[in-house]
Amino acid sequence: MTEQSMSNWKFATQAIHVGQEPDPATGATIPPIHTTTTYTQQSPGKHKGYEYSRSQNPTREALERCLTALEGGSGAAAFASGSAATAVLLATLSPGDKVLAYGDVYGGTFRLMKQVFEGYGVTPVFTDATDPAAFSALIDERTKMVWLESPTNPLLRCLDISAIARIAHDAGAKLVVDNTFATPVLQLPLKLGADYVVHSTTKYIGGHSDVTGGAIIVRDESLMERITFLQNALGGVPGPFDCFLQQRGIKTLALRMERHCTNATKVAEFLAGHKKVDKVYYPYLPDHPDVELAKRQMCGGGGMVTVVFRSEGSDDGRSAALRFCESLTVFALAESLGGVESLCCHPAIMTHASIPKEVREARGVTDGLVRLSVGIEDVDDLIPDLEQALR
Ligand code: PLP
Repeated sequence: MTEQSMSNWKFATQAIHVGQEPDPATGATIPPIHTTTTYTQQSPGKHKGYEYSRSQNPTREALERCLTALEGGSGAAAFASGSAATAVLLATLSPGDKVLAYGDVYGGTFRLMKQVFEGYGVTPVFTDATDPAAFSALIDERTKMVWLESPTNPLLRCLDISAIARIAHDAGAKLVVDNTFATPVLQLPLKLGADYVVHSTTKYIGGHSDVTGGAIIVRDESLMERITFLQNALGGVPGPFDCFLQQRGIKTLALRMERHCTNATKVAEFLAGHKKVDKVYYPYLPDHPDVELAKRQMCGGGGMVTVVFRSEGSDDGRSAALRFCESLTVFALAESLGGVESLCCHPAIMTHASIPKEVREARGVTDGLVRLSVGIEDVDDLIPDLEQALR
């Protein structure tokens, strides 16, 4: 089976078969995990394309081929974490360059831009507006990269990838989209004009909260050379067992996302009708500020739901939010997201604690806000759990 003929397959078929051809040596239907760090050469420099596992590893390559197919790209590089992948993309920039980002990016991405790459002369510029015009207003000839997440974390705002890609390209900049929350099942940024997709595969791609990983997928083959160079030079590669676990996770990605979406929709609708709840953010709810864009750009609302509790007297919803988090029993109170199990998180105290309170609150991440990663359990167990915790 050639790469060309596999590229005509539908998503779920590619997810199961690309990079998973039977082992030519033994016929093993599931290819072996290549733990080797080195490869025996026939004569100095004469080898089968593999020299040293930081540079090339068949198990990693299998994962990279699969991710390339799923995102509709022309190449991919896998990393030890989403943050390692992010660092490599930022390392493609040079001193004097600017990176323009939506302000509500993942905190670790913000930290890499502000506390690492700014020190090397790459200036980060942030906008808090989702409107493409805000990006247009801030872009200039020094801007070499525009960085988006859509949907964002934790307010699940959606940004117009096609419109922002046009703005970036007109200014000679590349567009990066962090597709961790949507996954290629729901959104294909490269098809919408992005140049790079980045993932924390720790989340939905791995899908079982048991492996940390990251990936970059490129639209244009010419971008791959620098990414592969940096992958080898900086060395933040995943181990072969981790690649195997991610590839196994991918085989059920389409099925899992379908269930994440139906469960999350029911959870969002249930919470939206509850008297203790002030607001629910879910991209496919009719009152979400970006619902039209979300429906145009994605083919499902995803598995994340954010809920804001009503204030009670002088309390701004914080006590209700904390009591809710402590009372859930099926949902585990834990950071991260995208696994089969449902999780709940209080961003102000947990994932977003490093952002100063005024900045956080100005962005809408208040103390009464709770983020849910809705898993694939039976929703008839999830809703009663939410109900009892609300009580
Ligand atoms: N991007 C997003 C949207 C994330 O949520 C995260 C982590 O939570 C990352 C990137 C970083 O990934 P990792 O934790 O795998 O380094």
